[in-house]
Amino acid sequence: MTYPTRRSLLAGLGALAAMPLPKAFAQNDARIVIVGAGFGGSTAAKALKRLLPNASITLIDPSEQYVSCPFSNLILSGERTVADQTFSISGWGSEGINQITARADTVDPASRNVILEDGAAVPYDKLILAPGVSFRWDGLEGYTPEASERMPHAWKAGPQTVLLRRQLEEMENGGVVYMSVPAAPYRCPPGPYERASLIAHYLKTRKPRSKLIVLDSKTTFSKMPLFQYAWAELYPDHLEWISAADDGRVSRVDSRTMTLETDFDTHATSVANVIPAQKAATIAERSGVADQTGWCPIDAVSFESTLQPDIHVIGDAAIAAPMPKSAFSANLQGKICAIQIARIVAGLAPQPTRLLNTCYSYTAPGQAISIVGAYTNDGGIFQSIEGAGGISPLDAPSSLRAAEANQATDWFDAIISETFG
Ligand code: FAD
Repeated sequence: MTYPTRRSLLAGLGALAAMPLPKAFAQNDARIVIVGAGFGGSTAAKALKRLLPNASITLIDPSEQYVSCPFSNLILSGERTVADQTFSISGWGSEGINQITARADTVDPASRNVILEDGAAVPYDKLILAPGVSFRWDGLEGYTPEASERMPHAWKAGPQTVLLRRQLEEMENGGVVYMSVPAAPYRCPPGPYERASLIAHYLKTRKPRSKLIVLDSKTTFSKMPLFQYAWAELYPDHLEWISAADDGRVSRVDSRTMTLETDFDTHATSVANVIPAQKAATIAERSGVADQTGWCPIDAVSFESTLQPDIHVIGDAAIAAPMPKSAFSANLQGKICAIQIARIVAGLAPQPTRLLNTCYSYTAPGQAISIVGAYTNDGGIFQSIEGAGGISPLDAPSSLRAAEANQATDWFDAIISETFG
C-alpha cells in the first residue's frame, strides 16, 4: 500500500504553479464563480487562479472561518479543541481571488447568474458548486433542528461537536451513550465508526461503568473487519454495534424523553448522537442540479452537471461513487475540475484522468487504520481500478497503527495547508 505524503500532496497545487501555461490559458478572461469555500471549493479557486491568471475567479461562502470535520472526532475524546479545527477563509484577495462573504440563494442557469441572499446577481461563464451537504430533516420522525440541540448530530463540525463533547463530560459514570447511523450515502463513510472508537476510548478511560451502543441502519460498513477487530481488542466492555439486521435501524426519536425507537424496541439514552440522513446542500436543489436522490449527477471527466450546462459540481454534493464523500476526494476533485474548466474555456476537450482517495480513521488516540481507493473516469463514469488501492492489515502490531496515525496527522496538516493556507 502506498500513501500520499505531505510532499506529494503539496506537489498538487505547487505543480500547477510551476507548469508552463498554454497561451489560451494565460490570456483567458473567463468569469468563473465558485460557491462554497470548503475542501472542494477553496482548492478549485486556488487551482483556477494558477491555471487562468487573467480570469475572474470569485469565491462565495457565508462564513469567514471554516471548521474542519476531519479530525473533529478527536474533540470528542479530548485530544483536540474546536479552535484546533478552525481555519480562516477570509484572505483570498491576496491570491487574486474575488471573495464574497454571503450565502448564495439560488442560481439562474438561463441568464448564468448566482443570486445572493440580498438579491445581488453574480454573473458567470462557468460555475462550480461545492456546497457540501444538508440534512434531511424530514428523514427521521422526531428529529428536527430543535431536537438536535438535545441530541446533537455533530456531523457539521463546530458548536454541535462542542455540545456532544460537553454532554459526554457531564454524563454520570454508568450512563449509556447511543449513536444512530443513517443508511448510505452520507459524508465520510467510516466517520461514525471512528467516532464510535474514540467515544468508547473516552468511556473506557474516564467513565468505565458507561458504554456506547451504536444503532446502525446498515448491515456492513467501511473498514468493518478492521474496526471490529479493534473494538474486540480495545473496547469489549464499552462498545456494542447493532446492525440493521438485528433491529438497529432507528425509526423515531423523542428528544423530550431522550429515547430512540427501532422497529421492536425503545432505547433510553443518557447521551444520544443522532447522525441524520443527508443530501446535497440546499443551493444544489434550488439550482436544478440535484436529482430525485437529492444528490447531483455529473459527467465524471469534467464534473459538469448532467442536468444544467456550465455548472460543475464537486465534493460531497456530487454523485461520484465509488469515490467516497471525503475531504480527500473533494480536494482532488477541486484540482481536476479546475483543470477541465481551464481546458473547456480555452476551447480544449476535457481529458479522462485517474483519481485517488485515502481515508484514515483513528481506532484510539495515536492508533489509526486506512483505506486507499483508485478510480478511473473513462466514458464519464467513475469506476474503481481493480487491484489498485488497499487497506491496513487486520492483525498488525500497535507500532503499525501508530505509524498510520502519524501519516494521518501529516495528511491532515498537508490538506489544510494546501486548501486554506
Ligand atoms: P464542505 O467542506 O462541507 O464545504 C462546503 C462549503 O460550502 C461550506 O464552507 C459552506 O459554508 C458552503 N456553502 C454551503 N451552502 C452555501 C451557499 N448556499 N452559499 C455559499 N456557500 C455555501 N474526510 C476525509 O477525507 N478524511 C477524514 O478523516 C474525514 N473525517 C470526517 C469526520 C467527520 C465527523 C465528518 C462529519 C466528516 C469527515 N470527513 C472526512 C468528510 C469531509 O468533512 C467532507 O467530505 C468534506 O468536508 C467535503 O468537502 P466539500 O467541499 O464538498 O464540502
